[in-house]
Order: sequence, then structure tokens, then C-alpha cells
Amino acid sequence: MKFFQKPPKNNKFKLLTLCLLLIFFRVGAAREGVNVGAESAFTNLVPAEQVEQTAKQQYYQLLNEAKSNRALAASSHPLFLQVSAISRRLIPIAVTWNKRAQNWKWEVNVIGSNTVNAFCMPGGKIAVYSGLLQQLKLTDDEVAMVLGHEMTHAVREHARERMGKGEVTQGVAAVGGFVAAQVFGIDPRLTGMVARQGSELLLLKFSRQDETEADLIGMELAARAGYDPRAAITLWQKMSQMNGNSPPQWLSTHPAAQTRIKELENNLSRVMPLYQQARKNQGLP
Ligand SMILES: [Zn+2]
Repeated sequence: MKFFQKPPKNNKFKLLTLCLLLIFFRVGAAREGVNVGAESAFTNLVPAEQVEQTAKQQYYQLLNEAKSNRALAASSHPLFLQVSAISRRLIPIAVTWNKRAQNWKWEVNVIGSNTVNAFCMPGGKIAVYSGLLQQLKLTDDEVAMVLGHEMTHAVREHARERMGKGEVTQGVAAVGGFVAAQVFGIDPRLTGMVARQGSELLLLKFSRQDETEADLIGMELAARAGYDPRAAITLWQKMSQMNGNSPPQWLSTHPAAQTRIKELENNLSRVMPLYQQARKNQGLP
């Protein structure tokens, strides 16, 4: 990471200020559940409205393409009903992490494709590919873990943070790349903008810190919604088992390292009580 290379002398003061700022902004926000830092200071360098607006345009472009290829699930489709029911339980909890997110127009769609992928874009625009649900035979709890993870990237504004850091290309192009990266590799029938922007694919990988945050907060918010957090572990086990001849698209941006599963296991004891409490509140055993 650039900022921690030995700086030329006249930059020392700037670097110190930056480090202090980072420490200040990353100090943990105290709350029950998993322990993650506050939002990165870099997030504020790019206006949220700009990121959300562009994401929205790209999302609708994707939906239109899916629609014209008859690959957009109708609102009566069983997979759509499954994903939207789970999202409805997760969203009210996800928005507690971000004030703006309370006013987002959250949207959920299922796209028919063999690709194993899902995303939640800035502004709360969610898409889940049927391949993820069907090929991995995900339970509701496991779907909740994927959605919780993706929602965390959105409410913690990880894309905006990356743009602020200049780790992806600038401004609008970066959001285009972000979206393209998320959808690239989808059903070959869905080409258009996806293919045109395919070169941006490799640019979108969240940092390991952001991934850990998405794993832990995602597991926590699913637990608070009454989904079994142990499903986070079985989800990753399924993903790794599939990582053979044709690795899931999701794995290209989410390496299923053993350390990932270990970290989730280490945090289980923190979120199990939240899950048990949620079940109790819902009148379930
Ligand atoms: Zn992720």
C-alpha cells in the first residue's frame, strides 16, 4: 500500500497527519456483536450521491439486458420469492449501519444464469444469480449469509472507499468498473455493457480488511434477523468444494481461504446469542 512506503522528507508531516486521521476514524465502534472498526476516512472523498446514482444507472442497464434476454425472474418466481423474503428481514438491520441507507430505494432481483454470483450495489441494489442458489443448493440461512455479506459492502460503502483511495480508476468509470466486475462472467446471452467493460474486471477486489468486515458484519446482521450464523461456515465450505474445474464467479472476488472460515468460526460465539435472542423474539425454538 502506497501510503506506508518510506516518504520523502517534506511529506513526513502529511503522512503523520494521515496516519492519525486513519487511526482516529478506524477506532472501533462499540456495540454488541462482532468488533469492526469505524468507516474508513477515505470514504468521504467521493460524494455518496454520485456513487449511488451511477450504480443505479448500471443496475437498471443490467436489468434491462436481463429482461430482453428473458433472464429476469418474475415477482412470482420461487427463487425471487425466496431472495426477497430473506432480504426483507435483513434490510431493516443492515440500515442501522448507515443513516443514508435508511432512505435508499432497496431493490432485489434474481437473474437466470448459471453463474454463481450475487451483489448489492451502492444504494441497495441487489441481484442474485440463479446459479448461486441452485448449483450450491443454498439453504435460507446460507442465502442470508451471502446477502448479509453483500449488503455490508454497500452499507459500509466499500466501493466508495476504494474510489476515495484511488485504488480503482476515477469517478464514474470506477463505478462502471465496479458494476461490470460484479456482473462479468454472467450468462453469455447477457453481453452489451458487460462485455465492453470487461477489462475493468480485475480492478474490483475489495481489500482483505473490507472482506473480513463484510464476513463478520454480514454474519451478525443475519443472526440478528434470526438466521443461523453457522451457515456462514457451511456456505464457504460449499464454495470451496465447488472451486474445482469451474470455480464460482463469486470466488474470483472472494477467495475462499481457510483463514476466512477460521475467522468466521472464531466469531461464532459472539453472534450465536444474537441469533438465539432473535429466534426467541420470533417465537421460534
Ligand atoms: Zn465481499
